[in-house]
Amino acid sequence: MDKTHSVFLIEEECEGCTNCVKNCPTKAIRVHQGQASIKEEYCIDCAACIRNCEYHAKEALTTDLAEALSGENNIALIPPSFYAQLPPEYNLKKIKQKLLSLGFAGAVNVSMGATIYSAWLKNILSKKESAEPLISSACPVVVRYIRLLYPELLDLVVNYDSPLEITVKMINNELKNKFTDEDFDFYFITPCPAKHTAVYYPPGKKASLLSGAIGVDDIYNPILKADLDRDSTEIQEYLNNLEQGFPFVSALAWGKSGGEEENLNRSNGSRIIKVDGLERIKMVLEDLENDNLKGVDYLEMTACPGGCLGGVLNIINPYQGIINLENAISKEYEEAGDNDADRQATAANIIETFEQPEIMPDENKAGSFETALARWQALEAEKEKLPGLDCAACGAPDCGTLAEDIVDGFAERVDCIFMLRQEVEMLANRMSELVGTLPPAMGRDKKEDADGEK
Ligand code: SF4
Ligand code: SF4
Repeated sequence: MDKTHSVFLIEEECEGCTNCVKNCPTKAIRVHQGQASIKEEYCIDCAACIRNCEYHAKEALTTDLAEALSGENNIALIPPSFYAQLPPEYNLKKIKQKLLSLGFAGAVNVSMGATIYSAWLKNILSKKESAEPLISSACPVVVRYIRLLYPELLDLVVNYDSPLEITVKMINNELKNKFTDEDFDFYFITPCPAKHTAVYYPPGKKASLLSGAIGVDDIYNPILKADLDRDSTEIQEYLNNLEQGFPFVSALAWGKSGGEEENLNRSNGSRIIKVDGLERIKMVLEDLENDNLKGVDYLEMTACPGGCLGGVLNIINPYQGIINLENAISKEYEEAGDNDADRQATAANIIETFEQPEIMPDENKAGSFETALARWQALEAEKEKLPGLDCAACGAPDCGTLAEDIVDGFAERVDCIFMLRQEVEMLANRMSELVGTLPPAMGRDKKEDADGEK
């Protein structure tokens, strides 16, 4: 299956109800002839359509667990939000043992990368002079949303790898130094479809080091059922040593909205806003675009409500998730010791070794100025003709989107029920006119003839 997107439609389940059309934040869905379809160029894999389809006709594509387990040197990457899904007795050590028992050669948690990201960002924020805020690049849906709808704000998205990519880079380098003849495959345990897409098409970047992303919903039960029959491996021993003495516990908070803010701990006086959910993100980005957001240094933005804990592939609700995650953090602190502040300094030393990738803007789809102007004029003319009621009965989310589809050749004006009615009325009037009209050869008016003879 094509992996440019990880949200797809199961055609036979779709009832054409248009719920997804109304809830897609990028207006990427249309319903034609009772069947939904996704305009892929507008889809950002936010999963809103999965949440809103009561017929379960939308699904997420993720890497098959069996496929991930078929390789030899397969390493599982555990996100903080995954801790919160499991019963309280599952500490990091037990999760790793279960993953080894399932067949992984090793497992690490990605909060190590989050620590490096936080240390780097703290440094950047302390030197920042511009009045405009920087925007977090951690959530791939947010980066895609900005690229698609607010490209002029793209310069504010921080140019740094995500915590996940940082963790993989760091671990891959270390493992390759130790096991020189070996190659490694990295599989992320993902709470959302967007992070699966990011494996194949990392937003604005060239390539990812990951081999796949397994959905939390696919690995949850196998983890619960796995026997604890494999304590460790040579690779796992090495990874444990790396993790020891590395700061990661406070970065577990990245699993929830506000976790980045907690890790920046604001000692440098930076003013940070945390925003979760695309509705609210839209509101903040519009204010930022219109220069109505003042005195803010950093925007922590996550597309899912509650942060990654709100990912559509998770098992438990995000509110319970917050409590579970906070309990897990307290427990890990007890086990790791309370020297996280010291260990932040380790991260600060490592940040310089990571190259800073460019976030590349989307190609300009509008073409030349003349083409763009002609399209805009056609669009405005089409909008004038449509009723402006935004009823969605045409299968597009609103009249403006239908106008775009008409101009781009994807729809017809009569897809609008009001326009269809108008057209039928015009036809009916014309037909009734035609009924009283005779062909020219037969159309002599006898009465006039008779009058003329008088
Ligand atoms: S919500 Fe969308 S995908 Fe689901 S049944 Fe309705 S039209 Fe089809
Ligand atoms: S995943 Fe999000 S952007 Fe893509 S079609 Fe569904 S609602 Fe729209």
